[in-house]
Amino acid sequence: MTTTLRKTKIICTLGPATESPERLREMILAGANIFRLNMSHAQHDWVRKIVPTIRAIAAELDMPVGILLDTQGPAVRTGDLPTKLPLKIGDIMEFTVRGARSEELYSVNVNYDGLIDDIHEGDTVLVDNGVIHLKVLSKLNNRIRCEVLTPGELGSRRHINLPGVKVNLPPLTEKDLADIAVGAEVGIDFAALSFCREPSDVVEMRRVLAEHGSQARVIAKIEDQSAVKIIDDIIRETDAVMIARGDLGIECPMEELPIIQRKILKSALKIGRQVIVATHMLESMIENPVPTRAEVTDVANAVFEQADAIMLSGETTVGKYPVECVKVLDKIARRIERSGSAHFAEQTSLINPRQKTAHSGVVLANSFAKASLAVLTRHGHMADYTSHIRPEHATIYAITPSTVTAGHLTLNWGTLPLVMPFGNTPEESVKKAEQLLISRGLLRKGEQLIVMSDMIEGEEKFDSIQLRTI
Ligand code: PGA
Ligand code: MN
Repeated sequence: MTTTLRKTKIICTLGPATESPERLREMILAGANIFRLNMSHAQHDWVRKIVPTIRAIAAELDMPVGILLDTQGPAVRTGDLPTKLPLKIGDIMEFTVRGARSEELYSVNVNYDGLIDDIHEGDTVLVDNGVIHLKVLSKLNNRIRCEVLTPGELGSRRHINLPGVKVNLPPLTEKDLADIAVGAEVGIDFAALSFCREPSDVVEMRRVLAEHGSQARVIAKIEDQSAVKIIDDIIRETDAVMIARGDLGIECPMEELPIIQRKILKSALKIGRQVIVATHMLESMIENPVPTRAEVTDVANAVFEQADAIMLSGETTVGKYPVECVKVLDKIARRIERSGSAHFAEQTSLINPRQKTAHSGVVLANSFAKASLAVLTRHGHMADYTSHIRPEHATIYAITPSTVTAGHLTLNWGTLPLVMPFGNTPEESVKKAEQLLISRGLLRKGEQLIVMSDMIEGEEKFDSIQLRTI
C-alpha cells in the first residue's frame, strides 16, 4: 500500500515537549520533515546530543529528516531573571544596559548597549511577542525607565521589538558565530538567519558556513519592514525564505501581515526559492487538543498558496499536544492539496535551459492522470527547478548519491529525497533508480515514470527527459 506523498513539508521546533527519542520517533512517523533547533533557547550540549539522536532515528525509520539551526540573530533581548516579573498596568520597569544596576523592584538587563541611544522618551517598547507594552518615561545614564501599559509576566531572555528602529547590531553576533560553528560540527542541513536585513547578510552567513566546512542552505528570515522593502533582492541571494510572522506581525501594522505574507510567497515562487510560512499556525494547540477554525483556515491558506513548508514553534517546543499538531497539519495539508491551488507557480521564471527542461518534464507529467517524476540529481538544482514548477499530481522523487543534497531537499515542496549511489553509466543509474522506486513500493507495473537526468556521453553532458512505462 502506498499513500501519496504530502506536498507541503512540516517543520517542527524542538524543545522540552519533543526532545526525547520516543517523542522524536512519534513526530517523524506523524509526518515531521524537518526539525528546527532554536538557538535563542538551545544550548550547545543539547545540540550536540539531539542531532545524532535525530539522525539515528531517521536512519532506523529510513525516512529523510532535515535539521535546521535557527540563529538568534541581531535580536534585542532581555537577560536572565531569577524569577518571572508579574508586571501590572502602571508599574515601573527599568531596562539596563552596559551592566548598569537598578534600584527598581522590576528591572532587567538588555543585550543591546545601543538601545539607550536608539530609544527616546515617549517611545513604545514591546516585549515578549508584543504582549507587554511599555512606554519610555525617561533615560537615566544606562537605565531606561518605563511604565507598563499592558500587563504580562516577563520571563528570561524575552524578545524586544522596537518597530521602525534600525538596530545597529551585526547580522551575525558573537553568539550566532559560536552557534553556527556547533551546527557545522554536528552537520545541519539548513541555517536560518534571523532578522535578515540585506542580501549581504545572506552572503555573510554563507561565508561563515563555508569557513566551517558546512554546505547548509541558508534560510533568510523576513521579520521586519526593512527586509520587506527589498524582498526580491534578498530572495535572489538566499536559498530559502521564512515568513517569520511572529516578529513581522509586531514590526509591521498587523493588517499588513496577510498582504506581506502573500507578497513574499509569490515572489519566492516567481524567483524560484523555497518559502516557509511560520509562527502561530496552531497556537491554540499549545494548550488544547484541537485547533480553532481560524487556525485551520490559516494553515489551509498557506497550503493552497503552495508554500514549501509550514512551521510549528511553541506548539512543539512546550505545547501539550506536539504529535497531534503534526497530525493536524498533515491532515489539513493533504486535504487542501487535493482541492487545488492558487497557481502562483505559473509565474515561475524559466531563465536557464535546465529550468526549461524541468518545465517540459512537468508538462509531460501533468498530461497523465497518474505519473511520477524521478529526478537524478547530484547538487539538487534540477530537483529544485522541478519542485518550483509545482507539478499538478506527480510526486518528485529526487534521487541523489549525496546525503548532503538529500538533506537540502527535505524542504522542497512535493519532493521525496532518496539516497542512491549512481551507476557507472547514466543508463545504469536510471535502471537502478527505477528498481529502487519499485522495491520501495513507490512505483507499480503499468505506471508512467518521467525520468530527468543529466547524462554524460564522451565529453558531452546534457539533460534528458525519458518517459518510461513500468
Ligand atoms: P522566531 O522567528 O521564532 O525565532 O522569533 C520566527 C518569527 O518571528 O515568526
Ligand atoms: Mn522571529
